[in-house]
This record gives sequence, C-alpha cells and structure tokens, in this order.
Amino acid sequence: MKIKAAVMREVNRPVSIEDVDVAAPGPDEVLVKTVACGVCHSDLHTVHGGIAAPLPTVLGHEPAGIVLEVGERVRNVAPGDHVIACTSMFCGACPQCVQGWPHLCTDRGACRRGEGEAPRLSRGSELIHPYADLAGFAEAMLLHSRAVVKIDKDIPLDRAALVGCAVTTGVGAALNSAQVTPGSTVAVFGAGGVGISVIQGARIAGARQIIAIDLNDAKLATALKFGATDTINPANADPVKTVKKMTRGGADFAFEVVGLPKLLEQAFYCLAPRGTAVLVGAIASGQSVTLNPGHFFQEKRIIGCMMGSNRFTVDAPHYLDLYRQGRLDLDSMVTRTAPLEGLNEAFRAMEAGEVTRTVLTFN
Ligand SMILES: [Zn+2]
Ligand SMILES: [Zn+2]
Repeated sequence: MKIKAAVMREVNRPVSIEDVDVAAPGPDEVLVKTVACGVCHSDLHTVHGGIAAPLPTVLGHEPAGIVLEVGERVRNVAPGDHVIACTSMFCGACPQCVQGWPHLCTDRGACRRGEGEAPRLSRGSELIHPYADLAGFAEAMLLHSRAVVKIDKDIPLDRAALVGCAVTTGVGAALNSAQVTPGSTVAVFGAGGVGISVIQGARIAGARQIIAIDLNDAKLATALKFGATDTINPANADPVKTVKKMTRGGADFAFEVVGLPKLLEQAFYCLAPRGTAVLVGAIASGQSVTLNPGHFFQEKRIIGCMMGSNRFTVDAPHYLDLYRQGRLDLDSMVTRTAPLEGLNEAFRAMEAGEVTRTVLTFN
C-alpha cells in the first residue's frame, strides 16, 4: 500500500513528505491507519543527530489510530479497534518481560521482521527504517501486535496519542519509576511535554508540593495549570538553594527531564536525606555527571527511568480512565494540531519553546 510519510534522510535537514510503500501485515502484525501522532523532543533530537538512528527513517513515536487489518495470529486487536502504539514493544518471553518489566525487554528483535523478509517500510527498492519501530509520521503504520493496545472509542485519538510517549514516560516516571508518595515534595527540572506529565503524575500521586524549574517563564506559567505549586526560573535564582528553602530541607523526589548533566547534579543536590533523583531525560552519550560523594551518606538515591517503567498495555487504559475522570489533563497539553506537512514547523515551534505538544492529525 502507498502512503504519505515524513522521511528524514539527513541530519539537520528538513524532513520531506514522500510516498512510501507499507507492506501487508504478517501473521503477528497490525496495519493501523494513523489518526494522530504527537511530535516529541526525541524526534527533534534525532533530526539534530543527538540520537543516532539508521537513515532514511520515518520519525514519530507517539501515535494513535484505527486498526485496518491484522495478521492471522493477532488476538489483542481487530479491524476497527482504536489503538495507541508505544515503542515499548516486548517479546513476552525474555527474563525482563517474564519478571514484569516488558519496557526493558532484551529481545525486541523478536518483534521485528527477519533479515530475509521484505521490509515493513520501503520506497521502491530502498529500505526505510521505522523510527522506534513505529514510524508514526505517516498515513499508516505496520506494527507488531505487541506494540499496540486497544483503547475505548470515546477517547479522542489526538488526545490518546499523547499516552504513547509523553504521558507514559512522565506520569510513569512519577507513579512507576519513583513511586511518588502522598504528602511528598517533588522538584521537576524541565517543563516541556514530559515534564508536564511528571508534574501531573506527582499531582495524581498526591504530592503536597510540586516545584517546576525551567528557563522559560511561559512554560512555568503552564506548569502551574497542570499542578505545579511553585516555580523557579534558574536565570533568577539558584535552583538547589531555592528548592531546599521552599521545601524546608530538600525535595523527596527530583526529576531531571531535559537531559543535561548539570541538571541531574542539581536534582541530586536539592534532595532531602533519603530522597530520590530520577533521570528521565536522555543525556547524550559521551557526557558525564560529577557528584560530590558526601551526599550518599544521606542515603540519597539516583535511579534510571526507561519510558516511565511502563507496562503500557495496562498503563495506557488506566491513564485514559484518569483522563475521563478529569484527573489527567490531556486537552491542555495539545497546544496545536497540524497536518503531516506541518512537521518542520512543529519542530521549529518546539525548539522555540512555544508548545507543550504539537499533534499531527490525518484525515
Ligand atoms: Zn517521545
Ligand atoms: Zn522480552
């Protein structure tokens, strides 16, 4: 089947809208008509070369859509179902999967097509790599059945899409990775789409104080609407000292959501004794973090976080229940919608800090 897709061919170049070929579903695959796909910072990092990806690729890893066709062994979804796709596809059989950590699956390859098989995406004889095994910036996606979860049809798909990455990552970082406790104090370094999701997760968990830290005052104002109780602009005040003062001794949880070594250090230093710092952002490989080891005598911890420690096939429907109850605000996260052709502009707006999320929508 021929579809329109946004193809990234070179680093630091605009993506181009091209006709590409998507294969028919194999036995365990699902063909999904894309209805919406959020534009995430990881897509932009990839365009800038900060995340290495085989090229050419179709970016986009925060999609929702409607199932068109399924392979003969697929049982979890059927044509007509509304679905969210998530990059945390899992084999279901490796030690991580079996122990309940499918987001850390060590055999994702089991969900890809084999060497000898025709590629899922191509352009004539040219292989096109589906970014994050999804390729959401395209009119249709051919996915492994364990990369999708069925959702209720009353949820607008341009809202549901956010659960595919930003919400799963951010809300999951608070609820699953850190397990923020009721009455705790939380500092969040970075108030973009994922940072806002961490803030919402901390609010849902019952944190009593949530401090948003960002250099962009507009983002700080947005953070207050999503549940932040206080804000700090590091241009005006030292964030570590200010968090310690605001929390009267340090935060119980601190999240680094930008991907800068300095911010992880600050997140660690602003903790109360026995506090937990969570690295959510992607610090570029080659960079390193320097920590004063004395702080470890206060039993502070630093933990990693991969995609919000998700089990997305159960998490996503739970998050959508919270949305329906008004406890998770997805509506305000969608700053703009745009057609596929608007992707380069969406990247520009993201870089300029103008949006929490642009969601690309398809007819
Ligand atoms: Zn993402
Ligand atoms: Zn696995």
